[in-house]
Amino acid sequence: KLHLGMFEIGKALGKGKFGRVYLAKERSSGFICALKVLHKSELQQGGIQKQVRREIEIQSNLRHPNVLRLFGHFHDSKRIFLILEFAGKGELYKHLRKEHRFPEWKAAQYIAQMTAALKYLHKKHVIHRDIKPENILMGIHGEIKISDFGWSMLKSGSQDNFYNEKVDLWSLGVLTYEFLVGEAPFEDTPVMTHRRIARGDMTIPSFVSPEARDLIKKLLVLDPEKRISLVEVQQHPWIVKHCIKAE
Ligand code: ADP
Ligand code: MG
Ligand code: MG
Repeated sequence: KLHLGMFEIGKALGKGKFGRVYLAKERSSGFICALKVLHKSELQQGGIQKQVRREIEIQSNLRHPNVLRLFGHFHDSKRIFLILEFAGKGELYKHLRKEHRFPEWKAAQYIAQMTAALKYLHKKHVIHRDIKPENILMGIHGEIKISDFGWSMLKSGSQDNFYNEKVDLWSLGVLTYEFLVGEAPFEDTPVMTHRRIARGDMTIPSFVSPEARDLIKKLLVLDPEKRISLVEVQQHPWIVKHCIKAE
């Protein structure tokens, strides 16, 4: 049975709204992992115990090179611990801030990996719903890992209209823009952001190539039914041009 004493705890890797994540080593095997610590009292105050249960149930069943593994979990009286795959190069967000924006070939390769991961998730009826640079981690070889399944949902028949996987495609459009431009497309005050999205009020700077611009415009379509599909993203000229197809 798993317990905290089995791990040697190392440096802090990051912090989200509820989770604090540490580098850790399983003592007997020497296995390096990341330990996400959630305080039960904070989960209760935030009313998100159910969400954490979902995070565990969903993420434990996923196996894809571009999806962060969840190996197991345990708890003590005060805390819940998630044993996660260690992403050696940390948050993609930090790389984006450092480079300001990514060159097109790099952005396209990241988007292709995201698309492969989302295709896998959607095939398993998992909708992530919290795709953003802070929740995209990078492995030691520079490969992308989708993480933080705290807002994810399993799509079941009756909930089709409420939890549609097309939300992840909107986020993919926002992400493509952010990778290429260095800031989010509708960045403004919350009220204005809302208004600008509703009006489709977005300007793409002129340094973005016509192919990339075309993909962004096809993803950031208000009507979810008219947004392009993951397969169409994989076949899009901008992706094809820069990538050897990643499954
Ligand atoms: P929250 O659910 O509170 O947002 P996250 O799971 O997103 O928590 O983790 C918070 C932060 O910790 C991440 O944004 C990232 O910087 C870091 N982190 C999380 N998991 C790992 C990991 N497996 N490897 C490296 N860093 C991680
Ligand atoms: Mg997070
Ligand atoms: Mg979370």
